[in-house]
Formats: sequence, C-alpha cells, structure tokens
Amino acid sequence: MHIHSRTNPSNLSLVWPLLALLVLAITSHTVKAKWQERSEGIMGTNIRAEVFHQNDELRQRALSQVMIEMERINQLMSPYIDSSELSLLNRTASLAPVKVSDEMFYVLGLSAQLSELTLGAFDITFASVGYLYDYRQKRRPEDAQIGSLLSAINYRHVELNEANQTVFFAHPDVKIDLGGIAKGYAVDKAIEALEAMGIKHALVTAGGDTRLLGDRLGKPWVVGIRDPRDKSKQAVLIPLEDAAMSTSGDYERYFEEDGKRFHHILSPKTGKSSYHVQSVSVIGPESVYNDALSTAVFVMGVEEGLGLINALPDFEAIVMDNQRRMHYSKGLEQ
Ligand code: ADP
Ligand code: MG
Repeated sequence: MHIHSRTNPSNLSLVWPLLALLVLAITSHTVKAKWQERSEGIMGTNIRAEVFHQNDELRQRALSQVMIEMERINQLMSPYIDSSELSLLNRTASLAPVKVSDEMFYVLGLSAQLSELTLGAFDITFASVGYLYDYRQKRRPEDAQIGSLLSAINYRHVELNEANQTVFFAHPDVKIDLGGIAKGYAVDKAIEALEAMGIKHALVTAGGDTRLLGDRLGKPWVVGIRDPRDKSKQAVLIPLEDAAMSTSGDYERYFEEDGKRFHHILSPKTGKSSYHVQSVSVIGPESVYNDALSTAVFVMGVEEGLGLINALPDFEAIVMDNQRRMHYSKGLEQ
C-alpha cells in the first residue's frame, strides 16, 4: 500500500536523481572552467592552443608560453624575416660556411634525414625554384627559369659540418625553406614547454599541424581533416590521444590560371606543383616528422607514399587522391 501513499518518504526517490543531476552540472561546469584556449596569427597561420589545469595562473602562463615558442621559432626560421637565421643562410651560405644555432642545425640535420628517407620527395632546397612563386600575387616562374635553376634543387648541396656546426651550400643558386617542417618542429617545442610546466592535457595546432597531450579527460580528442574543395566540410574525423597529425593540402596556398591550380607543394624533380593527390594526413608520435612526411607523401602520390608509410612502424596516413578517392595506410584499413 505504501507505494501509493503520497506522504511516503519514498517521494525522495525523485529528489535523488535531481540532486545527482545538479551535482553533475556543477562538476562539469568547474571542469569546463579549467580548460582554456587561445589563438594567435603567427608563422603565417592560425596558432591555437587548449590546455587543462586546475591552476588559473599556470594555465594562462602555459598559453603564453605556447605563443612565445611559436614566435621564437618564427624569428629563427621564417624566410620573410630578414634577420632570421634562415634568411642569413640564403644570403651567405653559398659564399662560405655559416655557423648556426643548435636548433637550426638540428632541423637541417633532420631535413637531410627525411630527404634520404623519402628519396628526395622532401627537399628544403625546393626553394631554389620555389622562391619565384608568389601565390598571393599569382606569380610563377617561366619554364626556362625553372630549367636553369632545377640543378640547384638537391638536398645534397646543403653540407652540414657537425664539428663546427656550420652550413655550406655547395651550389651558387641554392635557397632553402623550412615551410614543410618548421611548424611541426614549433608544435613539438610548444608541447615540450607545456609538459615541463606540468600540463597533462593539451592541444597545440599550427595550421595543418596538430599535437595532443593526453586525452580530453576520459574522451579522445577529435581532429578533423578538411575537405580540400569545401572549407566548411570535414572529410574525416579522427579520434586521437597523446599523438599528432599533420595535413598537407593543395588548398592552403594556391592560385588558379586557365583552370589550372598552382599550389605550394612542389615536386623537387620538376620545380612545379605536384598533382597526384589533393590532401595527405600523417599520424605519428611527433609533429616534426608528420609535417615533413605529409609534404613528402603529397609529392610521392598514393602508391609510393603509402608504401613508405606502411614501412614505418609508428606512422599512419590518410590520402585523398586527385579523383577524391580516399586511401588508408595498413593500420587504418577496414
Ligand atoms: P602547410 O601546413 O603550410 O600547408 P605543408 O606541410 O603542406 O604546410 O608544407 C607545405 C610547405 O612546405 C610549402 O609552403 C613549402 O614551404 C614547403 N615545401 C613545398 N614543397 C616541398 C618539398 N618538396 N619539400 C620540402 N618542403 C616543401
Ligand atoms: Mg608538411
């Protein structure tokens, strides 16, 4: 009988779930308040960071540190800043060896290794011809100009002297550009800085290069791959934790002329845009490798590119070819 009684204390059974809901709302509110994000335009792209920490002051400092690291590396590696170490190399390294910073030497060494690994598809000397393209002004070199400079594209021209930490360009027309690796390097440095501050959950993204620290508190992060022909659409969503993903696409910097797309990823063999695919995403532990490998696989195309990724134990890739068909590396198939 007491089931039907209106005065029965079992009316409380309604109160408990409501109370639980209230408690849940309060906790999720405080958890939310412990997340913070910031974005800034640095390195010619949008840098965005999200961090989780209980301490408000530390969270603020962590976000500032991300932007400081990005700007520091920009000042070192930008081809658009006259005082950058990269600009200095391009002005003088074909005349005599130039002593460089530890970081520059490290990134140049890594670039050389990646050139070897990708059989020259990743090659920072692409810039020997690449500097003649201006995607904003819709400017590109004549075939004759490309022809006369093509021999300067060869990563072997960049001579690194380990003992003296110097760089020499063994060809008078060599220019280098770190646009295919510097953002990945900067993302890794930013993540390192966050880890050193005791941050356990964070996202740092610089254009197409994203790295995640931990998860999103019990849920994975979800990183999108944009549809190369529709800004407003995501082609694929990838759940990730404690990992990184870089995307290279023919839509980041380009112009069109007579229906042909001239974009910023160049084949070192031809000095011209590569047309096998529209987009490549590489997933791996660190952004610096993902960044360079996504550029390389873009140049290599589906078969050769996925062949390379499948031979590397820690990496996966997602490729959209020039017919908009999707291709996946072995670890992602099914
Ligand atoms: P983004 O995130 O800017 O799209 P990507 O990782 O796709 O960067 O790399 C594209 C950039 O890499 C170009 O803007 C250029 O600076 C550089 N790059 C282009 N072709 C090559 C190449 N074959 N090897 C190395 N770097 C390249
Ligand atoms: Mg890249």
